[in-house]
Amino acid sequence: MIAQSFNYESPATLAEAIALLNEHGDEAKVLSGGHSLIPMMKLRFATPSYLIDINRIPGLSEIVEDVDGTIHIGALVRESQLEHSELLGRHFPIFKDVTKLIADPQVRNMGTLGGNLAHGDAANDHPAVMIALRASVIITGADGERSVPIDDFFYGFYMTAIQQGEILTEIRLPVPPKGTGNAYHKLERKVGDYATSGVAVQITLDESGVVTAAGIGLTNVNPVPLRAARSEEALIGKPLSDETIELAARFASEDCSPSADLRGSEEYKRHVTGVLVKRMIKKAAERAQS
Ligand SMILES: Cc1cc2nc3c(=O)[nH]c(=O)nc-3n(C[C@H](O)[C@H](O)[C@H](O)COP(=O)(O)OP(=O)(O)OC[C@H]3O[C@@H](n4cnc5c(N)ncnc54)[C@H](O)[C@@H]3O)c2cc1C
Repeated sequence: MIAQSFNYESPATLAEAIALLNEHGDEAKVLSGGHSLIPMMKLRFATPSYLIDINRIPGLSEIVEDVDGTIHIGALVRESQLEHSELLGRHFPIFKDVTKLIADPQVRNMGTLGGNLAHGDAANDHPAVMIALRASVIITGADGERSVPIDDFFYGFYMTAIQQGEILTEIRLPVPPKGTGNAYHKLERKVGDYATSGVAVQITLDESGVVTAAGIGLTNVNPVPLRAARSEEALIGKPLSDETIELAARFASEDCSPSADLRGSEEYKRHVTGVLVKRMIKKAAERAQS
């Protein structure tokens, strides 16, 4: 199908973009990589009268580390940048895991981290990763910027904390302490497919092998991206053992809420989630120890 006709704006500053969003209200949508929005427009699931393309706005495409130990990722950073960033690779090998599993190189050259999160789709892969890494999302509007913890960002089916007239401008990640590892994997029916289930894990181990911090996010097994909170609690304060890993996996498969579809039954998706939780805890632990 062909999208309904629309007006196209390409502002050169953030202030101009926010003014346009406020002027056109719910008739306007932000355009980043366009790899979720344009397909939805072609299917007429989205019919904006104005597209506000933010790609010309400077300062939204960098990845930098500040002196306080925070990584700042601009909203327009592409999947391919996440995959090849030396800075991210040093602290977060999980980005290599996840980007390689998203679509194909063409999509990864255009799709942005900001767009992936702002889309609010529990089937997208980055929400679970951001949950595991305990990210904060910076949202900018006419009154300035606010920081939203990732746990308060997704609150409904395709619904996020971004309000009308606002733009997601940055993602912040705390640099993890020594002894931390992270990993992501999803089961997909074929290369580039959305997840049957996906699991992101970040854990920190002290010198005696006790887990001091854990983050576990789940993809596409819940109406909104899910933090496996009971699984995290099952690990923290204990040495990693087959029993604690087994318990964390069982809690995740019990606490998610997948729906049956062409990718499998509810029972199958719960089972896959448990298997992936075990594997990703072990992989993250190996990276923490290496
Ligand atoms: C064939 C194909 C396969 C795919 N497979 C996967 C996959 O396996 N895993 C996966 O995670 N994704 C997948 N995607 C989606 C892809 O990663 C998208 O690029 C991503 O979901 C959206 O990013 P975008 O930059 O393209 O956003 P856009 O499509 O430009 O925007 C998406 C939505 O977010 C809003 N938005 C965008 N940026 C902002 C912002 N900065 N502030 C406020 N609102 C904003 C837009 O208005 C729109 O509603 C696939 C896409 C295609 C076409």
